Amino acid sequence: MTGHETKVCASCGRIMTPRRRWANDWSQVRYCSAACRKRRVSATDRALEDAILLLLKRRPRGATICPSEAARTLSPEGWRELMEPARRAARRLVADGRLEILQRRHVVDPSTARGPIRLRLPRAS
Ligand SMILES: [Zn+2]
Repeated sequence: MTGHETKVCASCGRIMTPRRRWANDWSQVRYCSAACRKRRVSATDRALEDAILLLLKRRPRGATICPSEAARTLSPEGWRELMEPARRAARRLVADGRLEILQRRHVVDPSTARGPIRLRLPRAS
């Protein structure tokens, strides 16, 4: 039987594991929650992904940024409201293999990381 592996929420980037209520349509599931299904991924969310990658490409190899730096490039005044969206953007990029999330200089699981995080390009990129 196939199609029951974990996947990543298309909106918040957190890992989803199959649950009983999804048993019959797991292949169709794209979002981890009703909130994420409603939110989806906005143009601002995509702009945050681009801002994260652009900031990192301008830094020396191995450099890290705070998600707030990406949020500030989009909205110097309202960046605080973009902090959670920036973390969601970072998780989506991790799921695509385009980013790493670190805490205390170690790569962490984006689904469970709490507190301040730093962002870095994967070594291979
Ligand atoms: Zn989600």
